[in-house]
Amino acid sequence: MSMAQSPEPLDVDRERTRTGMSKTALKQGFLDNLFYIQGRFREVATPHDLYMAAAYTTRDRILERWIKSAQRYKTNQSRTVCYLSAEFLPGPHLANNLVNLGIVETATEAAHELGLDFDAIIAEEAEPGLGNGGLGRLAACFMDSLSTLQIPSIGYGIRYEFGIFDQTIEDGWQVEKSDNWLRNGNPWEIPRPKIRFPVLYGGYTEQYRDHDGRSRTRWVPAQIIDGVAYDTPILGYGVGNVNLLRLWKAEASESFDFQAFNVGDYYGAVHAKIEAETISKVLYPNDEPEAGKELRLKQQFFFVSCSIQDMIRLQFNTVGPLDSFAEKFVIQLNDTHPSLAIAELMRLLMDEHDMDWDRAWDITHRVFCYTNHTLLPEALETWSVSLFERLLPRHLEIVYEINRHFLDEVRVHFLGDEDRVRRMSLIAEDGERRVRMANLAVVGSRAVNGVAALHSELVKTTLFKDFHDFWPDRFHNVTNGVTPRRFMVVANPRLSRLISETCGSDDWIRDLDRLRDLEAHAMDSGLHERWHEVKIAAKRDLAAWLKHRTGVLLDPEAIFDVQAKRIHEYKRQHLNLLHIIRCYQRLKQSPNQDMVPRAFIFGGKAAPGYFMAKLIIKLINAVAEVINNDPQINGFIRVVFMPDFNVKNGQHLYPAANLSEQISLAGKEASGTGNMKFSMNGALTIGTLDGANVEIREEVGKENFFLFGMSAEEVSQRQREGYHPWEHYAKDAELKSDIDLINSGLFSHGDTQLFRPLTDRLVNQDPFMVLADYRAYIACQDHVAEAYRDHRHWTRMSILNVARMGKFSSDRAIREYAEHIWRTEPHPIDL
Ligand SMILES: *Cc1c(COP(=O)(O)O)cnc(C)c1O
Repeated sequence: MSMAQSPEPLDVDRERTRTGMSKTALKQGFLDNLFYIQGRFREVATPHDLYMAAAYTTRDRILERWIKSAQRYKTNQSRTVCYLSAEFLPGPHLANNLVNLGIVETATEAAHELGLDFDAIIAEEAEPGLGNGGLGRLAACFMDSLSTLQIPSIGYGIRYEFGIFDQTIEDGWQVEKSDNWLRNGNPWEIPRPKIRFPVLYGGYTEQYRDHDGRSRTRWVPAQIIDGVAYDTPILGYGVGNVNLLRLWKAEASESFDFQAFNVGDYYGAVHAKIEAETISKVLYPNDEPEAGKELRLKQQFFFVSCSIQDMIRLQFNTVGPLDSFAEKFVIQLNDTHPSLAIAELMRLLMDEHDMDWDRAWDITHRVFCYTNHTLLPEALETWSVSLFERLLPRHLEIVYEINRHFLDEVRVHFLGDEDRVRRMSLIAEDGERRVRMANLAVVGSRAVNGVAALHSELVKTTLFKDFHDFWPDRFHNVTNGVTPRRFMVVANPRLSRLISETCGSDDWIRDLDRLRDLEAHAMDSGLHERWHEVKIAAKRDLAAWLKHRTGVLLDPEAIFDVQAKRIHEYKRQHLNLLHIIRCYQRLKQSPNQDMVPRAFIFGGKAAPGYFMAKLIIKLINAVAEVINNDPQINGFIRVVFMPDFNVKNGQHLYPAANLSEQISLAGKEASGTGNMKFSMNGALTIGTLDGANVEIREEVGKENFFLFGMSAEEVSQRQREGYHPWEHYAKDAELKSDIDLINSGLFSHGDTQLFRPLTDRLVNQDPFMVLADYRAYIACQDHVAEAYRDHRHWTRMSILNVARMGKFSSDRAIREYAEHIWRTEPHPIDL
């Protein structure tokens, strides 16, 4: 018997139009929503009205499952995973929800019968860009898998009013436009004005004695801001479970306004309101130089404080006393951004809920788990003690106290090793004193994991070596994954249909290991032909899309060679560029050579303050302009930069790629997930032994992967020996001539200085060893071109890549977290 009830139906028809899955019910629901929610009718509706009506019609069908899930989780007192992440990058919801509801075909037919262009409706949805890239996208894939695996969970984050900027390209340069994604309304979120918590900042702390005579601490803040919950339902694939993405919006706290401002200071009160709301105003682009980040620390504390208060509320509403908090909840910290949660839970348990230190610490360190995402030293978060103290005086005391307890243990364990104590301290004492958020996260968590096998090894042997010596059992690996629902079924329906037909079932969508069934058909020429057709069709679609947006026309027969990811020196888009320039020079020197046509496609945003990354974008566009307009090249190579790479636009890219560029310097990319999305869609990878590339190559077989470059081991050895990039420049004539061509001004209308900062950096410092891997990369690219000539062989490799990608489903990753780290069970909700 189900406890969940649809709203009391006024009549049978009304009930069905809200929840019915038939074509008739969908049509009626759509027209009703258009009329009653939008106040529109067919003849005057704008494309956006039509999208909104389709979204509400879909949401109606999710809501019943959502209520049912919430009720069931509550009565069962289900153990709940709380995924704390400063970023979520879910991509447009409509198409994904239709897939997960299993009504794509019905909805398409219904739209057709209403005379609507369904693809156009889907394309209306704005990208909810609440993340920078891989980390936020991982959080979104995990939310999809948590629901699909029927694990009760809540994703907690910030409802940024402005997400990651929209990128346009003007005169070859990146230009950032603010992303006002909420402008036209967001049909997927449900505001919860009553779920509201105060968040405190600044002020001072004082000691007092409570009624039992115990010494206690009271925090007297200087500012209080409210966080209000906005909920987005996250439906699993083919299941009744709907979990919650709960994002916090900052609002002025009324009670505080009236107290803080003189009666009659109307403008002052309004000003305070504006200031409060800035906290959830804008997402910070990553890779930005330090400075002016006070707001960022405020944001982190803001969402962490709301989320922990919300969990405590839920604990009281379901289980009861806080002693079992660590049995009811597990909190996963997505990187160090939410690691203040450790100090905040301690504060709430002690200062607000009367616990002593030992009991509070016992709960805290059993509830938290932490995922590390980077080894790059410049990306490790630290906050100056003075800023920390000014904003969070109580939390600084707690961090000091955690540190005191912790370092006492370290001293006992490593007698006399004060060097180690200094390295492990939560406070960096060299120079300006700073709080090390990664150390806080490791000390406050019972489990720490890296995101690919190689990365997790490096976490143990380099970044957290001291901690691993101390607590070897605390460290784990969970290799990342991506959801096949979004990146195969939604993005690539043609391939998905072909796979289902070939395997005789669509079970692979929930059990990606079933893709192995394709292997039996890897030599089947019938399949080869259809596989090739599916790829060509996606390439034609992408070519049309790019032609429309950039004016560049690509030849669908060419190798589609794609590098799409954030622009960063460690990802080495400039290594890719050097290969393009090499191809160009070869063609210029012998125009009649038999070169395999290639389309080089880039996509990715640069942080607005990252000069070198922005210069790389300019160089890509500059090289594109010269090559695409050179009549001698005659289209044999083409270069195009896809503007505004995001989840929505990426869905055009993955299905169309033949070659996936995963060419970061070994040891720098923690995992990568773009690599998985491409391979799942039948692209072959050219890559280094970095991040999850290592495991992808293991899975697909080394004969189906284009490997080049130094290993992480070789990289550190070269660095120890002393790396001199200018020697490569001096010794390798082709390399020299490629770099010299950039400096010649050919790509910059005669300006020989424009790209100097880039070429000088390569020749003189080259921190990511582009020049050291150049020769191996060029040779490997030549193998790629040769391999592409043999269509049958290439198609076979492509099929085998897809067939062997089962491991890289985020379902597998979530199963590993659930089993080894979270110790949590599925709670199925029947359909
Ligand atoms: C998957 C994804 C990424 C991550 O790509 P990597 O190649 O792993 O860096 C970044 N941005 C978007 C929009 C993505 O979908």
